[in-house]
Amino acid sequence: MTDRPPTTTTDAGIPAASDEHSLTVGPDGPILLQDHYLIQKMAQFNRERVPERVVHAKGGGAHGYFEASGEASQWCKAGFLAKAVRTPVFARFSTVAGELGSADTVRDPRGFALKFYTAQGNYDLVGNNTPIFFIRDPQKFSDFIHSQKRRADTHLRDHDMQWDFWTLSPESAHQVTWLMGDRGTPRTWRHLNGYSSHTYQWVNDGGERFWVKYHFKTDQGVECFTDPEAKAMAAEDPDFHLRDLHDAIAHHKFPSWTLYMQVMGFEEAADYRFNPFDLTKVWPHGDYPLHRVGHLVLDANPEDYFTEVEQAAFEPSNMVPGIGPSPDKMLLGRFFSYPDAHRYRIGANYLELPINRPLPSVHSYNRDGTMRYANPPDPVYAPNSFGGPTADPSLAEPSWGVAGEIVRAASTPHGEDDDFVQAGNLWRSVLDDGARRRLVDNVVGHLRSGVSEPVLGRALEYWRRVDARLGAEVAKTLEGGRLRALEV
Ligand code: NDP
Repeated sequence: MTDRPPTTTTDAGIPAASDEHSLTVGPDGPILLQDHYLIQKMAQFNRERVPERVVHAKGGGAHGYFEASGEASQWCKAGFLAKAVRTPVFARFSTVAGELGSADTVRDPRGFALKFYTAQGNYDLVGNNTPIFFIRDPQKFSDFIHSQKRRADTHLRDHDMQWDFWTLSPESAHQVTWLMGDRGTPRTWRHLNGYSSHTYQWVNDGGERFWVKYHFKTDQGVECFTDPEAKAMAAEDPDFHLRDLHDAIAHHKFPSWTLYMQVMGFEEAADYRFNPFDLTKVWPHGDYPLHRVGHLVLDANPEDYFTEVEQAAFEPSNMVPGIGPSPDKMLLGRFFSYPDAHRYRIGANYLELPINRPLPSVHSYNRDGTMRYANPPDPVYAPNSFGGPTADPSLAEPSWGVAGEIVRAASTPHGEDDDFVQAGNLWRSVLDDGARRRLVDNVVGHLRSGVSEPVLGRALEYWRRVDARLGAEVAKTLEGGRLRALEV
């Protein structure tokens, strides 16, 4: 026996003679092209990075499990929601706009993505820490993200550009109000809630259909930084959220969330006072109360960031039997954009990577492509007469009826639909005086950093439309700041 560590090898498994010296003609001579070991190291190093995610680039993740209480089975036949079933989960948290390496504590929504490795295949929920979003039609998504990222000329982020887009897109008012409040700067990933935001369809064993929204409420309690605290932490430790999650799990302080559902009868959607498929709206709790259905625990850190977090590929189109989409246009757009991003970013066979691989065996007729590990055996086509896998027609996807001309148009409004009403409710009915003051200060601080006319005038009108008093407070504070600045 020897306690010598294993011999270094090339990636082909061939033992290497030196970790320190290149192959040269004499100790001082030129390096030889035949130094395959050196060339493999340099070439592999040049290829270490895959393209970062265009959105949600900076993040971290952890492994854990979801345990269902069983109450959801009355609405959904998905096996992982049955009583006491425990399902392995991988979770990823992220900011939206910042690049890899950007600070964790900036004002931004946070991604809350979950992959459930169920016995019926992978179920992915690509949620956020906010129950709503800035837009309701995927046609505007790339424009929205461009406005939050960098200018073409200076390559700088630009508040003028951000507010220009927001004020020309009044459907953003609810999400911007939310973002400018305390929850726009969560203290840690452990102290935020996760929401599906989208509406999904659930189908039970009896074939009854329901519309549902998911709410993962943190058991740690919601905690937020103030704007100055978030900025100070961005300077002190840009990786604060990543570090906090890792350290908590390493010290066995396993974060957990309780999953609650809002459930709407299938037929109720047509007459509900808000369009229940509009991603800029919540379903008020008073209309649709929360039902507790399970518990999420994160109890293991990744062992390798790149293969487990950077290559984790979530896609809302991964739904197991009993779960389906809804007419939410943003959700339907994301069904295309997520898997398309993964194919571009990490390759056609990204689902073969260990972090993305489902628990059950895969029996598809898809094959070949870059970096394929293994192909299904013959027969390579369906239908066939040779015993290849056959689909099960009893698994028909959840559905809803549609009819109408093919148009490019906004969804038909429901009785109380209005871009500002729920934003106003948040300001008037949910926030206390301190939270309102901080929201005004956050808005004014943001507007003061490079927002100019005509966008500034539109921004003041935007806040007046959320709430007359809020608009007045923003205008007064902005003006006061200007006067103070003049006095100085
Ligand atoms: P409720 O009074 O029943 O619920 C208000 C909810 O607001 C709370 O339960 C809490 O959600 C959330 N909240 C508390 N403080 C803040 C904050 N500083 N920033 C953002 N959200 C906060 O009212 P409604 O259900 O009628 O909703 C009123 C408004 O509350 C909505 O327009 C929406 O802006 C906001 N809200 C509503 C949610 C919903 O699904 N109905 C979810 C989250 C926010 P939680 O318990 O999830 O932490």
